[in-house]
Amino acid sequence: MRRKLIVGNWKMHGDIHSNQVLLNKLIEGLHDLNDADYVVCVPNPYLSQARDLLHKTNIAWGGQNVNQHEQGAFTGAVAPHMLTDFGCSYVLLGHSERRSIFHETNLTASARFEAAINAGLTPIFCVGETLAEHDAGLTEVIVASQMDAVMATLDENEFALAIKLNMVFAYEPVWAIGSGKTASPEHAQIVHHFMRNRIAKRNQDAAKKVRILYGGSLKAKNAEDLFSMPDVDGGLVGGASLLADEFIAICRIANKYEQT
Ligand code: PEP
Repeated sequence: MRRKLIVGNWKMHGDIHSNQVLLNKLIEGLHDLNDADYVVCVPNPYLSQARDLLHKTNIAWGGQNVNQHEQGAFTGAVAPHMLTDFGCSYVLLGHSERRSIFHETNLTASARFEAAINAGLTPIFCVGETLAEHDAGLTEVIVASQMDAVMATLDENEFALAIKLNMVFAYEPVWAIGSGKTASPEHAQIVHHFMRNRIAKRNQDAAKKVRILYGGSLKAKNAEDLFSMPDVDGGLVGGASLLADEFIAICRIANKYEQT
């Protein structure tokens, strides 16, 4: 079994005071957990705060997106080295909110994946279908197109680098994000298994190693059933990552699974 990974996506929430309270609770609540990995993806202005509070803890931090360019006239954008300058080891990419609200595409999300790994960041690449696509039976078609865009963008050296950096994928059905509707463990397992097979087409060893997270209204009450599925390697947590007790409870569940 792969080591479980829990990632909190704070989205556009928080302020300097509430972050401090939340992070201190997480530090206290997670410090004795050694059998899974924990990450918080905070808004960019708070990366230095995350670094200052988390740098000697077992909680890593990351950004919620990154631009594909190194530098230049891209007002409002953030380059990969700007995240690593603040100690980030992870970055979320292709989140459905980036795709639907900010018009990011498979092409731009894949270019960002490529730029992220070249800067030494571990990408957490999000895929998932909308409700209409789900109802039309298109889940695998959509997920395949999103994953294949990344696979097609990376050359052999970059793919090897992505494996070395422990690239992560996240299945986030759009209809489950922030809706209170969680995918059933069986549905998640089918899609995660499909995703792993998609990676195996490129490299079988990588497919065995890559962690695939579930995201979408993940809470402590449904985490155990989801994490028990053989291809669910942890969770990407939005709303519940802002509630210290709830996030800690999810992390504690993940910590119970031993790596084999
Ligand atoms: C997310 O936005 O990545 C997410 C999973 O949100 P929520 O947990 O709130 O559904």
